[in-house]
Amino acid sequence: MESGGTQTTNCRSCGGTDLHPVVDLGSTPIANALLSTADQPVDSYPLGTVFCADCSLVQLSFALPADAIFDEDYPYFSSFSAALCDHAAAHVDNLIASRGLGPDSFAVEVASNDGYLLRNFVAAGIPALGIDPSPGPAAAAEEVGVPTIVGFFGTEAANKIVAEHGHAHVIIANNVMAHVPELNDFVGGFATLLAEDGVLTVENPYVRDMIQHVEFDTIYHEHYCYYSCMAVEALMARHGLYLNDVEYFPDMHGGTLRWHIERTPHRTTRCQDMLDAERALGMAEPGFYADYATKVTECQQGLRDLLATFAAEGKTVAAYGAAAKGATLLNSTGIGNDVVRYVVDRNTHKQHKFIPGCTLEIRPVEVLLEDQPDYLLLLAWNFADEIMSQQQEYASRGGQFVVPVPMPRIV
Ligand SMILES: [Zn+2]
Repeated sequence: MESGGTQTTNCRSCGGTDLHPVVDLGSTPIANALLSTADQPVDSYPLGTVFCADCSLVQLSFALPADAIFDEDYPYFSSFSAALCDHAAAHVDNLIASRGLGPDSFAVEVASNDGYLLRNFVAAGIPALGIDPSPGPAAAAEEVGVPTIVGFFGTEAANKIVAEHGHAHVIIANNVMAHVPELNDFVGGFATLLAEDGVLTVENPYVRDMIQHVEFDTIYHEHYCYYSCMAVEALMARHGLYLNDVEYFPDMHGGTLRWHIERTPHRTTRCQDMLDAERALGMAEPGFYADYATKVTECQQGLRDLLATFAAEGKTVAAYGAAAKGATLLNSTGIGNDVVRYVVDRNTHKQHKFIPGCTLEIRPVEVLLEDQPDYLLLLAWNFADEIMSQQQEYASRGGQFVVPVPMPRIV
């Protein structure tokens, strides 16, 4: 274990020690570290989660340092999903209208990737700045006119941005707060950067849905934390910030929340209702998470059984979506390239590489029509509608889709 991981003994948010096991997914490789060859040696690390009874944060039970996970080869490019781009553009339109943003405003996105979101501010004539640790996507952002700092966000980066550009009227952080090992330094950066009348919006998959819909493949080493509104409220309050509003997107990544955070408290009714509903569900208590491991085991067994039935019938299976969640699903369930022949992905940066652990080869999507496998396992089930509408030709020739969670089923 030369990457120097550590067992979690103190909560990543509040520092508390009253941690309760939620699920143990065994030992798996780092999900996004794609392999160049199938036989490339790879290390595995314990994968599981615990619940903090003090602040309600669900988090990894074993954590690797960020530099073991996020490097120049980190393969995610946002603009490859049309749905994600539409979602981002709509958010920017709403912010410009509701906050009255203009040429004197300043928008910052943390983990700005290839500029998929900030380019909408730039197009509207609003100064924008991205920050992202991956040079590849950052260069792509610069090409579409989005100034981007290559680096990690935190208190130090926030101070530099303030010194050079001033405070931000809008800060956006989508699908990044889960990826942060030094959580309080990261949120401290928000507190440093945010203008007095500014708004911070943070999006992340909702831990309630991960639990209730058995979305255990959301768990991987890159995701240190799994958030409820209560956990976000406690985290922000520690830095003098207030959770004032929340939006819910049930079809986004299996259920995503967008929290609106400001410097002064004026909480909306829907936000208070959401917090009350979490408490009423018992999400502040370990009991809410107690039977999760059993449900995960049932889902995994169901998938193994379904794939065994296909094999017995002489049917062929391929998979769609070489995202990290696919690696967790396959590796924690013990599914290899003897059962699923390969995985297809539209992302050209991933093609002809291999998913670590299960060593499925990643091929271009066009292979599906040449090969016409009988079943297509949707590892990227969070984009199921988009994928199925793109693959109408495959379906019209008799191909069928399998969605793995909450229980595997043919759709
Ligand atoms: Zn805690």
